[in-house]
Amino acid sequence: MPSTDRDPALFELKFRDPARARALVEALGRRTAELGRTPVSVMHVCGSHEQAIAKFGLRSTFPRGLNVIMGPGCPVCITDAPEVDEGVVLARQGVHIATYGDMVRVPGTSMSLADAQADGAKIHVIYSAAQVVELAQSTSDQVVFFATGFETTAVATAAIVLGGLPSNLSILSAHKYIPPAMEIVAEVPETKVEGFLAAGHAATITGSAVFEPFVARHHVPVVVAGFEPLDILAGLVKLVELIRDRTPQVVNMFPRCVTRAGNLRAQEQLWKVFRPTGGRWRGIAHVPNGNLRLRDEFRSIDARRRFTIDLASLWDHAPAALAQSCICGDIMAGLSSPTDCKLFGQECTPEKPVGACMVSSEGACKIWHEYGGHPDLGGDA
Ligand code: SF4
Ligand code: SF4
Repeated sequence: MPSTDRDPALFELKFRDPARARALVEALGRRTAELGRTPVSVMHVCGSHEQAIAKFGLRSTFPRGLNVIMGPGCPVCITDAPEVDEGVVLARQGVHIATYGDMVRVPGTSMSLADAQADGAKIHVIYSAAQVVELAQSTSDQVVFFATGFETTAVATAAIVLGGLPSNLSILSAHKYIPPAMEIVAEVPETKVEGFLAAGHAATITGSAVFEPFVARHHVPVVVAGFEPLDILAGLVKLVELIRDRTPQVVNMFPRCVTRAGNLRAQEQLWKVFRPTGGRWRGIAHVPNGNLRLRDEFRSIDARRRFTIDLASLWDHAPAALAQSCICGDIMAGLSSPTDCKLFGQECTPEKPVGACMVSSEGACKIWHEYGGHPDLGGDA
């Protein structure tokens, strides 16, 4: 390999090269025109894709008639209010709660974990599952890991569980599994989605093959794509091509990280610790097999069994239900955009979020608020 290939700046250029980006933008325009009809709607199922689209100004390069809409791809947004409430109840019992960054600001029914912290609860922001183990080892108090996120973070939780937890540490699993949520979107009667851009990072675990039964059932193509501007543009070109040719299949456009089978060891750990079960995703409704819960063998470290979580008493004193005007659900189902929400940028801002989509850096509303939704093409895209 020539030594220049190891220069990080040049390596980055490969994925952000403006000439290649322009060629892909033109190809995307041609493919969309070749459809002979518009509009055509495709969905990406990942907040990180939306972040890259906004950050690099890609949306302004998409051809007229191609709607690239956002799906339920942000773990913060889809963690349901009662799941936050469970963490709040435990925190108010004096238990230490450890969770990933943005989760502390997500509104529960009556308060967020950050609100509970302001009332004196012991809330800890962690960046890796391993840190929770260190936290538990540093105290004799009870520690609960409010474990959120998709299969990527669930694998990290599974790894610490299989490694053996300190006796004062238990798991409150709010982990979610993405493939069943795509089924819901595909089955919404009003859906106009004709193809899916699947998230490259989750597919490193599950492999691209996980989408094959979905494609067979719904006859819509799925393209696995990475997160650099050229990854996204190339993924969209391929997706529109598959729609044009009426050839629903799974295509892996992220082969530098994703294989068809995925990471078998990670999958083994995941399914050894968790079982899929139906449950609510915020704003979306009940997703069959969409929640990951600890298997019975791990009941001794399941916070839902170790503690009494009395949600009713919390809800009895809740000041109000979640804002009725929040349309996070429609946004996550691909039926609306953040700017369709009358609270967007007014009552609901990143500083004072009303809905979960305004909290996370991968939240649709937060991203649109930050980048303006349809920014101009940046110089380095
Ligand atoms: S702007 Fe706020 S209230 Fe409206 S949909 Fe987004 S998160 Fe919900
Ligand atoms: S931000 Fe909200 S709408 Fe966007 S991907 Fe995440 S969940 Fe979906």
